[in-house]
Amino acid sequence: MDNLKSVAYFCMEYGIESSVKLYAGGLGILAGDYMKESCDLGYPVVGIGILWKQGYGEQFIDQETGTPYDAYKNRVYTFLEDTGVTVSVSIRKRDVNIKVWRYRAHGVDNLYLLDTDIEGNDGEARWITGQLYGWFGEERVAQEMVLGIGGVRALRALGINPHVFHFNEGHALFAGFEVIREKMARGMRFREAWNETRKEVVFTTHTPIPEGNEQHPIDRFIYMGANLNMNKRQLKAIGGDPFNMTVGALRLSRVSNAVSDLHRVTARKMWKKVKGGSKIIGITNGIHIPTWVDRKMLELAEEYNGTETAEEELWGRHMHNKDALIGFIEKRTGVAFDRNVLLIGFARRAAPYKRSGLLLSDLEFLEPLLRERKLQIVFSGKSHPLDDTGKGIIAEIVAMTRKYPGSIVFLENYDMEIGRVLTRGADVWLNNPRRPREASGTSGMKAAMNGVLNVSILDGWWPEACIHGVNGWQFGGGFESDNTAKADRHDLKALKACLANEVIPTFYEDRSKWISMMVSSIKTTREAFSMKRVLDEYYNKMY
Ligand SMILES: *Cc1c(COP(=O)(O)O)cnc(C)c1O
Repeated sequence: MDNLKSVAYFCMEYGIESSVKLYAGGLGILAGDYMKESCDLGYPVVGIGILWKQGYGEQFIDQETGTPYDAYKNRVYTFLEDTGVTVSVSIRKRDVNIKVWRYRAHGVDNLYLLDTDIEGNDGEARWITGQLYGWFGEERVAQEMVLGIGGVRALRALGINPHVFHFNEGHALFAGFEVIREKMARGMRFREAWNETRKEVVFTTHTPIPEGNEQHPIDRFIYMGANLNMNKRQLKAIGGDPFNMTVGALRLSRVSNAVSDLHRVTARKMWKKVKGGSKIIGITNGIHIPTWVDRKMLELAEEYNGTETAEEELWGRHMHNKDALIGFIEKRTGVAFDRNVLLIGFARRAAPYKRSGLLLSDLEFLEPLLRERKLQIVFSGKSHPLDDTGKGIIAEIVAMTRKYPGSIVFLENYDMEIGRVLTRGADVWLNNPRRPREASGTSGMKAAMNGVLNVSILDGWWPEACIHGVNGWQFGGGFESDNTAKADRHDLKALKACLANEVIPTFYEDRSKWISMMVSSIKTTREAFSMKRVLDEYYNKMY
């Protein structure tokens, strides 16, 4: 192990423990799983993140109107260790002090969290680490300065000098600026410092949605002090003007990765005009198995030999997990689902490309299935706090739960706890994004390893895993169209056919086949989509 390179991993969010609200969604879940796995394996990795005072908004549904709203409250975590280290970053020409905490709990002991809510900072500075993704523009730049510039300074102050800086998303990019500044302070010229910095940086790109890739006017960087003495021309050479954080990260790194094979193709196309960016390779995401997967279910799949006893045991375990989900739903919503009815799980961030309402858009198809008790559906998902379209999507689902009480439910405030019970206890896990917008998707991996069968568009990780009719189902056949209405019509038709001709008949008429599919689902995914494989690939191909 001694010859493994040491790595500092930077991310805005970490999903480590459900109740520790330092995460919003998939990006944070990936980062949390990465930290846990690197700890389990004893790899020389440290994480840098932010101690969010309020975290991400909690979602509630207004009982009268059925629309979601967000609420924030201050959080106090007693397990954090004071490192005694404080660093400072000049933001808008004022020194902001940043306290460094060490997260040592929940299977993680190598994560450092930065906090500006301390004595000596003025009110404005104390709020920089207030809310995760709470603000845009200058406030976002201030947060990213704390993460990137503050993060590198924290590492140096702690005496940690990693071989590799890994930026998980472009948010961490100012760490590259700080490393350039360090080198220039030691006498290097800009170009050389930039080149040398690139040798130490790797980058993971995520969203294939153009609007999801943050950009800022260069003047804003200069006003905020994020440029660290670099001039306009130098900044522009790195990230363009307006400065695109993904472009900048591509030009500040030695190698980058997309988060699935398909996403590699999409990302290369998307960024092909970026001259001098690092090469984008594909390293498909994975999950930390002990966090997400029912160990008993894994064992039963491993021992499975096709006998009636083995079938009964495996199905019994699934029903145990399904009962747990049904109990959870009843506790949260008062709705009692039926354990003998096919249960579809769907939990996603409410973004239009994820098409949460796709199945609900054809009531002629859906209504008879609900009425005849062939189907019941549980939804969950948050929208970005400032995204009214996303809130509208949630409101439509909530309206459907009122139209079909007992058959459709919505669980408020999607978090890791909900993610865990859903991906263990549903019968199938539905995923219907507009291809190729889903970069990877890790919830489907959680489901697959729990024997919850994926019914999914061939997007993100699923083209790499799917053996149709053997370990789950695909629908849509990889169809793509820039005409979203056309793509939606095509995929809805395919989804209906898949449910009506394959999923529903198999569930009710061929339990043996269903069980053997569960076993295949687990066996074909548990290694290929584990975080262990991801870490090994990071080490072999990136670090
Ligand atoms: C697993 C998980 C995600 C990521 O899942 P996707 O498939 O990328 O949507 C997001 N949020 C929570 C709470 C999760 O548990």
